[in-house]
Amino acid sequence: MFRKILIANRGEIACRVIRTAKRMGVATVAVYSDADAHARHVAMADEAVHIGAAPVRESYLLPDRIINAAKLTGAQAIHPGYGFLSENAAFARACAEAGLVFIGPPPKAIEAMGLKGAAKALMEKARVPVVPGYHGDDQSPDLLAREAERIGYPVLIKAVAGGGGKGMRRVDSAKEFAAALAGAQREGANAFGDDKVLLEKYLVKPRHIEIQVFADSHGNAVHLFERDCSVQRRHQKVLEEAPAPGMPPEMRKAMGDAAVAAAKAIGYVGAGTVEFIADVSDGLRPDRFYFMEMNTRLQVEHPVTEMITGQDLVAWQLDVAAGGKLPLAQDQLSIDGHAVEARIYAEDPQKNFLPSVGRLHRLRAPVENAHVRVDTGVREGDSVTPYYDPMIAKLIVWDTDRRSALRRLRQALAEYQIAGVATNTAFLMALVGHKAFVDGDLDTGFIERFRADLLPPPAPASTVVLALAALAVTLERREAVTRQAAQSGDPWSPWSAVDGWRMNDQGWDELVMKERDSDILCRIDYLADGALRVHGPEGHVTAQGSLDGDGSLDAVIDGRRLRAGIVRQDDDVIVLLPGETHRLSIVDPRAAGDLDEAGSGQLTAPMPGKIVQVLVDEGAKVEKGQALMILEAMKMEHTISAPARGVVAKVNFRAGDQVPEGAALLQIEAED
Ligand code: ADP
Ligand code: ADP
Ligand code: MG
Repeated sequence: MFRKILIANRGEIACRVIRTAKRMGVATVAVYSDADAHARHVAMADEAVHIGAAPVRESYLLPDRIINAAKLTGAQAIHPGYGFLSENAAFARACAEAGLVFIGPPPKAIEAMGLKGAAKALMEKARVPVVPGYHGDDQSPDLLAREAERIGYPVLIKAVAGGGGKGMRRVDSAKEFAAALAGAQREGANAFGDDKVLLEKYLVKPRHIEIQVFADSHGNAVHLFERDCSVQRRHQKVLEEAPAPGMPPEMRKAMGDAAVAAAKAIGYVGAGTVEFIADVSDGLRPDRFYFMEMNTRLQVEHPVTEMITGQDLVAWQLDVAAGGKLPLAQDQLSIDGHAVEARIYAEDPQKNFLPSVGRLHRLRAPVENAHVRVDTGVREGDSVTPYYDPMIAKLIVWDTDRRSALRRLRQALAEYQIAGVATNTAFLMALVGHKAFVDGDLDTGFIERFRADLLPPPAPASTVVLALAALAVTLERREAVTRQAAQSGDPWSPWSAVDGWRMNDQGWDELVMKERDSDILCRIDYLADGALRVHGPEGHVTAQGSLDGDGSLDAVIDGRRLRAGIVRQDDDVIVLLPGETHRLSIVDPRAAGDLDEAGSGQLTAPMPGKIVQVLVDEGAKVEKGQALMILEAMKMEHTISAPARGVVAKVNFRAGDQVPEGAALLQIEAED
């Protein structure tokens, strides 16, 4: 076994690898960018080496810096994690040349699977079924359009070098083809440095089912069963589970055999995942699954496999990379129970899952135990930056059967408290509790189909929530007043006797709380026993309670005990309840009038990024919803569209410009 390894990654996967290395007595070296100097993975590792600036191209994607860091610290092997350099054959080769072990497959195997088109050709030869389509070298737009016609719409255009759901466009008709092709090519070139694409028949009711494979350098190869990753948004996995609900044993065997055959066909060594797409328009059938791609690395969702097999896949990776044999043979592996993983992202499901950046003012995870596992790379107080993937954590649960596992997952999600960025936890709770999901009625269109159930318009703060906010603020004021009185040395000072919001001499107060731009007027009566009666637009409740030093409010509302997380940010109170977050700004009613927002028509950048295309000129007449500009941020394209019909009064940037968050991109004069 190695004495010391370097982890060429960051975030939760770097922490995940370090955890196993520590357990095995292997010393660890982290690498970090400017943005990660205080990151969790750096704190966890035995040593850490700075490798450059925050953008990945200036740090985590620089092979030389990483190899030098390994040499400098005497690491013998490099674990690449996922993403970044994990599927970069040149990097794997450079490691070998520097006398370092790359903890992953041989460079040739990475290359064989690196481009989706070539991989499909290879799999056809190995008699693994592939999705019907076109994966030739000729990339002329006319030929591609003809091929799309031949395959029959809808088709899916994929960047051959794509990953993470990027560089992909579904096309429903010939007239959309040219624009979609240009988009996929642009995304492929920007994110992966390759604008080549392939075409596939778009399956309308598919499930994403993948097989975990493992091979050693002694000719042994096994699979560790399947994972179902059908619940996706923007072609990216949201929930993953193992085993796949309703999987017939003969189909499991057929898929497992096909995956092992795929691995053997390319001389695979180490951990890999063969991704298949199953056409489930007639249910799960052993003759209706097709190879999509192979990920030649550890996968994000590997923990569900670990939970049902009782194995540590990172330990297997280290054993195999050190020249060892696979610890178990196929017939020694079996499935125990059911595991589900939910990816907790800093993103706003209400805004088409747009990543949300900011500081994690509050981050409280459920307690880990034999049923609940949390893999994370951030702590309370850390920031989600625009430089890297906005995943906050992976929450993994295990139980003896699927229904129990889902119940546990809901429970654990309810325990999560996150403030400072938008998150998908409420969305995940709705998903995990949805009847169709509980019944195992899955396909990749699930989220779109049940969008209305899963993404209800945000409910306005209830009277209980208003009361919790008012109570928290009042308790804070009382504490401050008591402190002040104690400091002034006069506990009998009139200050300490004063209650009430603005410390007037009435027994009541009025207070405006603002939530998402609507004002909520509340009246608060200060009752004799220290309790409050809070009148909101929908009625009133009596509230009392106490704040602990850790940001929790223990309250009794109309005789019902409640515990809520409370976070203060500037003038805002954030109230955190299971699956529900409300951010209320406290408005001083006597402060100056409203800012004039009407008529501004300014469109701003939702996050820092680069303008990739400007689609309109000044003076152009535009329709509501028309695309005006394309912004690339966090490796994805965001379309800025017209909020109303009108005229473009001003365009402030050009293609190629870098813009900060909030930058005024264009000005639209609405037409009435
Ligand atoms: P998985 O099935 O494990 O989710 P993905 O292909 O979605 O596999 O990608 C895994 C992770 O790696 C994701 O977090 C994704 O954002 C990241 N990733 C994928 N490709 C790249 C790349 N070329 N550069 C950096 N990160 C990438
Ligand atoms: P990536 O490298 O980004 O992971 P994949 O080829 O693995 O790309 O596809 C990602 C997802 O896109 C799949 O999990 C599936 O939901 C969807 N998808 C891929 N191919 C097809 C297809 N031919 N028909 C329908 N959906 C598809
Ligand atoms: Mg994939």
